[in-house]
Formats: sequence, structure tokens, C-alpha cells
Amino acid sequence: YDTKSSVTAEQLDVKVAVIGAGPAGLSAAYFLVKAGFKVTVFEKQDSPGGVITYVLPNFRIPASAIEKDISIIKALGVDFKFGVSEEFSINDLNNKGYKYIFIGIGAEVSRKLQLTGDNNNVYETLDFLRSFNKDLGVLNIGRRVAVIGGGNTAVDSARSALRIDGVEKVFIIYRRTEDEMPADKEEYERALEEGVIFKPLLLPESFSKTGILKCRKMTLGTPDSSGRRRPVPTEETEEITVDSVISAIGEYTDSKFLSVCGLKIEKNNRP
Ligand SMILES: Cc1cc2nc3c(=O)[nH]c(=O)nc-3n(C[C@H](O)[C@H](O)[C@H](O)COP(=O)(O)OP(=O)(O)OC[C@H]3O[C@@H](n4cnc5c(N)ncnc54)[C@H](O)[C@@H]3O)c2cc1C
Repeated sequence: YDTKSSVTAEQLDVKVAVIGAGPAGLSAAYFLVKAGFKVTVFEKQDSPGGVITYVLPNFRIPASAIEKDISIIKALGVDFKFGVSEEFSINDLNNKGYKYIFIGIGAEVSRKLQLTGDNNNVYETLDFLRSFNKDLGVLNIGRRVAVIGGGNTAVDSARSALRIDGVEKVFIIYRRTEDEMPADKEEYERALEEGVIFKPLLLPESFSKTGILKCRKMTLGTPDSSGRRRPVPTEETEEITVDSVISAIGEYTDSKFLSVCGLKIEKNNRP
């Protein structure tokens, strides 16, 4: 699509800085350059694409599809600066003549899984998926793996884990049921077809050196602020034996960076 895309709008002598070359920054750059602005994208990595390039497992989207989108944006005249320092000063950018600044830095901070016990074979989903994308061979996560969470990251982590040599069983452990899962239905169904085992209504509490992941059995109560029924702990527990745990319980934006940029941050870590 759109391979003949061109800038038809009147050229404006207005510079815009876009921070972050993920889907948000790239889309902003695309529409801004098409509207006639002079756009520079500042990206801390060595290439564009954000999560889609560095995190999303390559069986989800071919590299060629990402490259195609990016080549269209480059051809429109967007300037890219890669490997930039994360220490941005909005004032500096303003002094360099950037009138508008778009911040699209994604959500790169993983929410911490509260797990007691002495087993440290616990990986954070973004680190795990980045390593999976980079070099499948270096990951040693054992034979049995538990992924905690119910979103796309959890499902992608489970499907990736299943593709690693030596892995025999992968569980997705979720504190609600499949009806409340935020993951795309078709991705979830693919995971089941591939052999991932879904364990609903369980909340992991501890992980011991012997590989016992002790989970609290949950039930569903009244809806919470998300509109989904709230998971409520019961008196019962269930134990699952695994070699490693991948935590995929959510990510949020680095609010430190937003504060440095001069944005006021609310309690929920958002501006
Ligand atoms: C495993 C996984 C699976 C997903 N699956 C789906 C799916 O199936 N469908 C769907 O719609 N969405 C999915 N998503 C969500 C989707 O990937 C995100 O919504 C999307 O990537 C957000 O784009 P973004 O540009 O906001 O952030 P990102 O993709 O995170 O890009 C942010 C960019 O900003 C750069 N950056 C960060 N800080 C700085 C800084 N200080 N200075 C300069 N650059 C900086 C980063 O290096 C990165 O390139 C998935 C996400 C994950 C993690």
C-alpha cells in the first residue's frame, strides 16, 4: 500500500522533534511530514520500530513488513537520529529550533511480580522477548515454564518459550478467566493450538528452589474499574512444578523521563 506516497501539502518552515521511533513516533512522523512539517525522529536504539522490531517475536510479523513501512516514512523526507542519549532537554530542542515535540517513548518498564521464595529463575517478559529475538540459542529456561499474565505479552512469551530447545511444557497462569484476558483472542487460540496450557484463576505467591510455584486459587467478584470481574483470593492453593517463571503482568512508561521533559506526573505514572 501507499508505496507512491508523497508530500503534497505546502512546505512549512516549522521543525518538529519526535522522540521515539516506535509505531507511535513513526505514525506521528508520517502524518506530520505529509502535512508539510520538517520532522526529525530521535531514537535511542540503532534502528526504528520500537517493540515491533526489538520485542515482538519474529514469528508474529516478518521483518520485511516493518522495513517496508519505515522505508516509506524515510522516503517522505523524515530525518532520523539513532543512538541518541536518553537525556533529553526540551529546552535544548526548543533552542535548536524545534517548535513542537512529540514524545512516543512507549512503555518500557515492567511491573514487578510480587513473588516470595528463593528461586531466582524469574524473567521479565520484555527482557525475555528481546533475548528471544536476538539469539534463541542463549536462553536456558529449563523444561517447564510458567508465564504469568493474560495480555499479548504473556501469550507471545508463552509461544516463544515453546520454541526454545529443551522446553517441553509451558503454562499461562492468569488470575482471572479467559473471558477477561486482554490478549487478542486469535493469539490466545494459536497458543493453545501450539500446546500452551492455560491455568485460569491462579495467582502465584511463591517460587521455591525445588521448583514449586505455589499459587492462590482465585474466584471472580464484582467488576472493578476496568469493567472486568475482580479476582478474589480463596483459602485454597495449587502447586505447579516449573523450572522458570516469565512475568508478563504489564508495562508502564518511564515517568522519570517524562518528568525530565517537564511534564507533571500523576500518581498513576501518567502525565
Ligand atoms: C510482546 C508484545 C506483543 C504485542 N502485541 C500486540 C498486538 O498483537 N496488537 C497490538 O495492537 N499491540 C500489541 N502490542 C502493543 C504494541 O507493540 C504497542 O502498542 C506499540 O509498540 C506502542 O508503540 P510506541 O511507539 O508507543 O512504543 P514502542 O514500540 O515501545 O516504541 C518506543 C520507542 O521509543 C524509544 N525510546 C524510549 N525512550 C527513549 C528516549 N528517552 N529517547 C529516545 N528514544 C526512546 C524506544 O527505543 C522505542 O523505539 C504488543 C506489545 C508487546 C510488548
